[in-house]
Amino acid sequence: MSSTLQIYNTYSRKKEIFEPIVSGFVGMYVCGPTVYGDTHLGHLRSAITFDIVYRYFLHKGYKVRYVKNITDVGHLTDELNDAGEDKLQKKARLEQLEPMEIAQKYTYQYERIMDIMNVLPPSIAPRATGHIIEQIEFIQKIIDAGFAYVVNGSVYFDVVKYTKEGKYGILSGRKLEELLAGAGEERRELKEQQEKRNPADFALWKKAPPEHIMKWNSPWGVGFPGWHIECSAMSSKYLGNTFDIHGGGMDLIFPHHEAEIAQSDAGHQCIPARYWMHNNMLTINGQKMAKSLGNFITVDEFLTGKHLLLEKAYSPMTMRFFILQAHYRSTLDFSNQALQAAEKGLQRLLEGYQFFMNLTPCESNNSISMQEIEQLQQKCYQAIEDDFNTPVLIAHLYSGLEFKTAITHHNKTVDTQSLSLLQNIYKTFLIDILGIKIEEKTNTNQTELLHQLIDEILKLRYEIRLQKNFAKADEIRNRLSELGIEVKDTKEGSTWKWKE
Ligand SMILES: [Zn+2]
Repeated sequence: MSSTLQIYNTYSRKKEIFEPIVSGFVGMYVCGPTVYGDTHLGHLRSAITFDIVYRYFLHKGYKVRYVKNITDVGHLTDELNDAGEDKLQKKARLEQLEPMEIAQKYTYQYERIMDIMNVLPPSIAPRATGHIIEQIEFIQKIIDAGFAYVVNGSVYFDVVKYTKEGKYGILSGRKLEELLAGAGEERRELKEQQEKRNPADFALWKKAPPEHIMKWNSPWGVGFPGWHIECSAMSSKYLGNTFDIHGGGMDLIFPHHEAEIAQSDAGHQCIPARYWMHNNMLTINGQKMAKSLGNFITVDEFLTGKHLLLEKAYSPMTMRFFILQAHYRSTLDFSNQALQAAEKGLQRLLEGYQFFMNLTPCESNNSISMQEIEQLQQKCYQAIEDDFNTPVLIAHLYSGLEFKTAITHHNKTVDTQSLSLLQNIYKTFLIDILGIKIEEKTNTNQTELLHQLIDEILKLRYEIRLQKNFAKADEIRNRLSELGIEVKDTKEGSTWKWKE
């Protein structure tokens, strides 16, 4: 299977032609969510970015093993507070729940949102807590290779030693001197700072204080895995020591992916992935999204419109289409104006799609040429093959709507063969690859309809009462009551509400 697909590889800092390690197969690992909080836009952008990659490989006929992990052990050492609690554990105390209960709750939420966003589930969604043994074994390999050391029940990766022999900084382009200078600025636990040989070293295994809930036995004592080791352990378990694509948000390049490379290089003597793909960050009304700025909007809030900054609710497909209107390596700014423009734009494309799908072919001497339609197909493929350039692809799908105008306004026709290709283009690119789902009539419309129906029934009942047929009027009221609708009669007519 020869390829013209170009992928921007963060590792080489250039676009490269994609060549799989094993012909016909793709192994892809993407860093998934840390399930200690609501699914937010950052999760959504990363998920949709790699959903396009996954869908396109499937479209090209590859057999894809897509692994997206779930981080259910708080691993962010930077987030450790002074008591040494990790995020999951801290939240557990606040909400009075077990850490695994919280992880489960937010995993369900994440999966529910991925489903309504039409994000295909990965082939494997491994959990960090289910792979403690693999992580311990991986750490042991790094110790055996001489690139990690044990201090007081914790294990640290020796960045200075590795940098002399390996390639630390190769992905992020950082130099050891910078790392040493930068590491001092990061907030670290005092104990960790004292234990480490060097500030740039990172934890592979941390000794657990007695009050720590999530902890496991290990050759070095009771503790929990460090920040980066889960992805190295799980990617190699399911995809082999070297696989095709490793993805994630740009914020993961350093230190997370840099550390993954160092761990694999030290433990397996190889770089784990060939192509490193990173999606860019997003802003809200031009500002970085942060809880402290009051602009932290969860995906559920976008879908219900329940946030002060939102003028209305946005449908899952509006959100999806909006994200795809920007290239994954560009920044993306969320605003009501931009979302509403996306909503209208998507509507126009879907109308075009429905038009082509319902069109009857017709032979005439005023036909749209097959060649024009083939050109559209070619342009669509060129766009997606150019590092998954979805905004350019969408622009071509818009330009294809000119065929609709030609048919409706200029008496053009399209023959069976050409129409079949045109339908195929929109089905392939809009539905299969961009993953736009035709949404059924929204719930709001159905609710409105229900309210109108109840109002109509009450109007009829009012007429029955005016005719003094009270037995019938009572019967209707009782029947509505059984359905959970409480009717109240007044002189002017009747009102109703849902029973509590
Ligand atoms: Zn990861």
